[in-house]
Amino acid sequence: MIIDSHLHFGNVVRFNLTEEMLLSSMKKYSINFGLVSNIEAIEYDFDRKPVFIINQYGANLKTVQLCKKHPDTLKGLFWIKPVTETLDEKSKELILENKDIFVGFKAHPYHSQLKVTDSRYIPYFEFASIHNLPFAVHTCIDSWSDCRFLHEVALQYPQVKFIAVHMDLRSDYKKAVEYIKNTPNLYGDTTWVNDGKTVEWILQECGMNKIIFGSDAPIDGVDTYASYREMIEYLKKSLTPAQWNMVFANNAKNIFRMLQNKA
Ligand SMILES: [Zn+2]
Repeated sequence: MIIDSHLHFGNVVRFNLTEEMLLSSMKKYSINFGLVSNIEAIEYDFDRKPVFIINQYGANLKTVQLCKKHPDTLKGLFWIKPVTETLDEKSKELILENKDIFVGFKAHPYHSQLKVTDSRYIPYFEFASIHNLPFAVHTCIDSWSDCRFLHEVALQYPQVKFIAVHMDLRSDYKKAVEYIKNTPNLYGDTTWVNDGKTVEWILQECGMNKIIFGSDAPIDGVDTYASYREMIEYLKKSLTPAQWNMVFANNAKNIFRMLQNKA
């Protein structure tokens, strides 16, 4: 079984990720289950210009609707808009009324142009802490998304599990690995770390229980998973079956505890 902790849908800037693409991609590459978030909630585009497609509530309501259509395949992450909005009562209600759908939050410091250390994230982190919801955060070596900022926040909220998505995109991963290794509530996601040997080294450093599989599918189309084939096969050979199952399914079940009843 494979659980992909990092899937998207939505139509914004250069992306049009349809439900059809997402589901057929998972089917084609035998991905059994995944956590999806709506990219239409981004607040800034790649030219650092403000973007508005839909409000926070509306974007995440679409996630609920999509997951309800595919209960055996998808659960959701609530994509936050900390700059243009906040965690208003309507959004809180949406999360609590759909506790079986939203297993956590998704923050994108680059597309919000806001470091996670900014006070505007506090209402979300406090809510996550009270309701035991993990936080998946895009990390990259740019001015907003550095894993260093996430590490600071992870220390401030020890009861919240944080996932460093990409483990610092465009880096050699060494700094992110140090943070993940030394911070009990900080985990790593393999999205775009798609070289088998590199992931093997990260697992040796951080521990088998600290890393989860993620892909960003179907961001490069129905065949996004083709980029991960080598990595998946390499780890099948280099890890024991029990270890492989941890990275590709069981760790996600432990972190996002609402997935635990998934076969
Ligand atoms: Zn993503």
